[in-house]
Amino acid sequence: NQPVCSCNTCFTGPDCSRFIPRCAADADSGNPLFLEPFWMQHLASSALVVPGWHQMGYTYDDRTYVSKELEKLVRRVHSTVGNAVTENRFIIFGAGSTQILNAAVFALSAENTSSTARVVSSVPYYPVDQEQTEYFSSTKFKFEGDAYTWRNRSDASSTNMIEFITSPNNPDGQLKEAILHGPNVKTIYDRAYYWPHFTPIPAPADEDVTVFTLSKLTGHAGTRLGWAVIKDETVFKRMMIHMRLNSMGISKDAQLRAFRLLKTVLEEGTEIFDFAYRTMQSRWERLVRTISSSDRFSLPENNPRYCTFYNKVRKLSPDIAFCSLKLVHECPDPSFRSRAYAWLKCEREEDKDCYAVLKAANIISRRGNLFGSEDRYVRLNSDTGTWGINQFAAAIHALQALIALGL
Ligand code: PMP
Repeated sequence: NQPVCSCNTCFTGPDCSRFIPRCAADADSGNPLFLEPFWMQHLASSALVVPGWHQMGYTYDDRTYVSKELEKLVRRVHSTVGNAVTENRFIIFGAGSTQILNAAVFALSAENTSSTARVVSSVPYYPVDQEQTEYFSSTKFKFEGDAYTWRNRSDASSTNMIEFITSPNNPDGQLKEAILHGPNVKTIYDRAYYWPHFTPIPAPADEDVTVFTLSKLTGHAGTRLGWAVIKDETVFKRMMIHMRLNSMGISKDAQLRAFRLLKTVLEEGTEIFDFAYRTMQSRWERLVRTISSSDRFSLPENNPRYCTFYNKVRKLSPDIAFCSLKLVHECPDPSFRSRAYAWLKCEREEDKDCYAVLKAANIISRRGNLFGSEDRYVRLNSDTGTWGINQFAAAIHALQALIALGL
């Protein structure tokens, strides 16, 4: 029962497949609506009716802000997918992973000393790492830019450092690893995209603080529910204090909805992952085909070491989640691995402002400098929009037209 297409993007015609020339394709914004069709096909099992008297208090029966049932379900989802170790780990929830990321910075900063933690992330980085840290900047912590610039600094080893590692990365999809190491370095792994939709899963994440979000797993960004898997109890308790002081707990309605949705995810086996993977893959294939027909633009290379590692892991443990999906039997052609974003580079010497190049072709992208990078790069969003006729598809059409002109 797919809804009738409303042709509300850049397409027209009876089946909405005709591209409207010169239509502005907005590949900037990032709502993960590509999963909407999956939820339309699971109306009954995902629906929720909440009586007015239900769950009115601040806390649950055990006086905590966290639903133990939801926590159990999250652990089951991770063990089914194989993307995180959760045994003997603490789990904390928050209003999206956005709140969790900041709670982690507070919790990892020194409590009782005057030493300000330096917060870094390797370029290109997720802009909110910088924006949020700068906004909340205090004597506890301060944003200090690109992690690479701290790698060989002599004062780095004597300073409290906190490194954000977004893996797979937003914007370029790379499976990033920590740049800084040592006794004074704390890490926050942002694993928002560490789901089979966006990346093969080489091994379960097992870091000190690993952050996930419902937004990129089920697509329910508006529910505002994220969580972190945490090794150390002290860090967990400090993050809980942050939640209490920052928002007096976590929305119980959001937890209830997340519970319903994750239950459906588990009941349907690998269905949501199959659907999400296929959708993202087909979008990515169209983009790669388009870009490879021109030397004006390029996409990042995949890390070949990673692909080898993936093959090895497959042989050692054939039950890892991605393989169990039976979607890719060989190590995939690296360039055809889908990603939530395309990190596009303008290759021509004169195209220093890639945003302007695309804007002239009616494609709205996000500028590279927002990610701490050069403006020779832009990000196009591929997880937004429901059908093939989405803004990403519109952007591909416009790119094809631009490439065909050969200007
Ligand atoms: N981390 C990354 C890398 C993201 O791209 C996003 C969403 N753009 C988030 C975290 C935030 O997600 P949310 O607050 O919806 O959980």
